[in-house]
Amino acid sequence: MIRPMINRDSQFFWDGTAVDELRIQRCNACAELRFPPGPACPDCGALDRGFVVSGGVGTVFSYIVHRHPPVPGKELPIVIALVDLDEGVRMVGEVVDVADDQIEIGMRLRVDYHHVDDDLTLPVWRVAEEDQ
Ligand SMILES: [Zn+2]
Repeated sequence: MIRPMINRDSQFFWDGTAVDELRIQRCNACAELRFPPGPACPDCGALDRGFVVSGGVGTVFSYIVHRHPPVPGKELPIVIALVDLDEGVRMVGEVVDVADDQIEIGMRLRVDYHHVDDDLTLPVWRVAEEDQ
């Protein structure tokens, strides 16, 4: 199992996934959203940072299908997508219920949460249900 690096800048993100929230860092000075999280706002340089909770829906910007080499704890192939969240930031994540020959750019995805253990919950992506 490959574990993500959790540090002071990304702690809020992992605290979020633990309670089924996809959190996006937001600058408290200029309200710019950013991902990945970092200590300073790339827009205005402010260090005062907060977050918003994403609606958890986005669009596939691009993707890769990982067939080789083997990944510990994983069955291959794995579909990894760059997802453009509706809030305007881009995240990378595993797509869990789309076959490697079904994934396509522009597909709508919704986040779900894979509770790995007490310390780690990974966001994963599934096909978004059509809005009613
Ligand atoms: Zn800012």
